[in-house]
Amino acid sequence: MKLPLDIASVKGFLAEDEGEALYVHARSAASLGPLLEIGTYCGKSSVYIGMGAREGGQILFTVDHHRGSEEMQPGWEHHDPETWDSETGAMDSLPFLRRTLRRAGLEDCVIAVIGPSAVIAAAWRTPVSFLFIDGGHSRTQAFADYEGWVPHVMEGGVLLIHDVFPDPRDGGRPPFEIYERALASGQFRPIAAVRSLRVLQRVKR
Ligand code: SAH
Ligand code: MG
Repeated sequence: MKLPLDIASVKGFLAEDEGEALYVHARSAASLGPLLEIGTYCGKSSVYIGMGAREGGQILFTVDHHRGSEEMQPGWEHHDPETWDSETGAMDSLPFLRRTLRRAGLEDCVIAVIGPSAVIAAAWRTPVSFLFIDGGHSRTQAFADYEGWVPHVMEGGVLLIHDVFPDPRDGGRPPFEIYERALASGQFRPIAAVRSLRVLQRVKR
């Protein structure tokens, strides 16, 4: 795949081979319907998924309140002072996202949905061919994303989860736990894994 911008210049938490896997699965899922991502930040993953969506003639909805996860707040491990809006006293990654989408030429097919994931999930009615969960990593938030969004994945569609660490020494548990829950549900089969990215396909609803 040829990226429309220098992806290293986009802030974010995604390795290149993970991004390529997002692109490949987005491209093939797009024949079924629209795509959705939870956890946009500055749009790094959105570029890869958006490219696949566009090639398949589909759009990507990308959900984030743009106020940052716990570990991105000042004083925490993943804080980036450039994303701090001192006027409002809060993080704001939305201006970075808009810049990324404009530079990538993806403004017409990557649609930002701005707000708390659980609030949006409760009102969501459109089945999705592709669901990428990469939002809040607390247990409460990860399970809320699983419960709120997974029912919207079409049969034959794919569920992708980031930051799945089977060994607790490598990272937090909640993404791994929702991955295990998807497998235990009997509704998904694993089809690919790249670093901490897991890809599952829905076999039945
Ligand atoms: N996919 C991105 C990284 C996402 S980081 C990349 O490729 O770089 C996680 C994001 O989840 C943050 O931007 C944070 O604001 C968002 N987030 C965390 N909890 C959320 C919630 N409850 N509702 C909406 N967004 C949330
Ligand atoms: Mg992640």
